[in-house]
Amino acid sequence: MAIPVENVLGEIGKGHRVALCTLNLGRMKMAANCAGTSKKALATAAAYAAERQQFGRPIASFGLIQAKLAEMAARAYAAESVAYRTAGLVYTALGALDHDARESLDAKLATLAEFSAECAMAKVFGSETYHGLSDEALQIFGGNGFSEDYPVARMYRDSRITRIYEGTSEICRLSVAKAILKRLDGGVLELPRPILPVRLELPDVDPARASALRAPVAGLRAICLDLLAQAVARFGTARLLDDERQAYPGGIATMAIELYAAESTALRVRKLEDGRPDADTSLAAALARLTFERAAGRIRQEAATLLSGLHAGDDLREALAAVDRRLPLPADRIALDGRVARALIERGGTLPDFAAA
Ligand SMILES: Cc1cc2nc3c(=O)[nH]c(=O)nc-3n(C[C@H](O)[C@H](O)[C@H](O)COP(=O)(O)OP(=O)(O)OC[C@H]3O[C@@H](n4cnc5c(N)ncnc54)[C@H](O)[C@@H]3O)c2cc1C
Repeated sequence: MAIPVENVLGEIGKGHRVALCTLNLGRMKMAANCAGTSKKALATAAAYAAERQQFGRPIASFGLIQAKLAEMAARAYAAESVAYRTAGLVYTALGALDHDARESLDAKLATLAEFSAECAMAKVFGSETYHGLSDEALQIFGGNGFSEDYPVARMYRDSRITRIYEGTSEICRLSVAKAILKRLDGGVLELPRPILPVRLELPDVDPARASALRAPVAGLRAICLDLLAQAVARFGTARLLDDERQAYPGGIATMAIELYAAESTALRVRKLEDGRPDADTSLAAALARLTFERAAGRIRQEAATLLSGLHAGDDLREALAAVDRRLPLPADRIALDGRVARALIERGGTLPDFAAA
């Protein structure tokens, strides 16, 4: 079929560049979509938990339900932080381009390609958050959740596809790892500088504020970097991506995604505190702490899996101990979960936003 010359996008023979870059935008938008639907799942579950009475009290007063609500709130808040941050990075970079220039399309494609890792990380984190939250929301609805008469059955069904289209979680993880290794190979950054991912540096902040999380987040980044360095040293960047070795790039991507979420949330809370120095930002800070705890747990788990493939015996024991030395003691989750869940119920299931704590 003949295409009019004026309808050609980019260079003839290089249409795949346009298609792949469009995918980056699609992933970024899906992250925002999933953050919004996650917040809806949270609000729906919180409202039901506050209203549903069992054993003479609302189920929201039970510790196990409070733990679910707190975890859901932290994950939704983190997904939204990641979506905001990714969109901010992409639109700031696109906004700096000269859109009238002849090479405008090429420049846009190059800019979008530069953020392929962030877009894929945001998509995976958003979609897995939405699916996790819809599952827990259904659990909070109990038997009613299984019935189409209540809203969560549809959320559960709708959320499932988000882990598949616009790039499955597996393909996105490989894409994240490839982008990280490309940055490494391209000499853009060298080990042991923080390349995982490159834009995850927390700026210097006042240590007395929410940025109490700065050092722990830096510890997470160091664990990820060490793992990446060890895997690259063992296999080299090219062989690390071999089909039968996908556990390594997959694990590295999972660690990068958790790190991206923990840092995006910490940065957001710092911005909130800086913008509203007199406001009560304690709920936002608690959500950032919970996000950190989750990221630390998942990163530790992935690190243990990958290290067990790289080391054995005493070497493995020492490598695992080195990971633990970089992690702070866990927060008192039982107290934190109760505090977050009660605050959430008081607010009608809504999360703090940028403008108001
Ligand atoms: C409701 C719906 C709407 C859709 N909308 C669109 C749309 O608008 N536009 C569009 O282009 N597509 C669309 N799709 C298609 C969707 O993008 C694909 O289903 C998706 O990319 C997965 O491809 P597949 O179904 O062929 O699965 P497969 O490629 O067969 O994958 C099966 C499994 O194997 C894994 N896998 C595959 N390859 C690898 C690998 N190299 N390494 C590790 N694991 C791998 C996958 O992650 C998955 O878990 C839609 C699909 C659905 C269900």
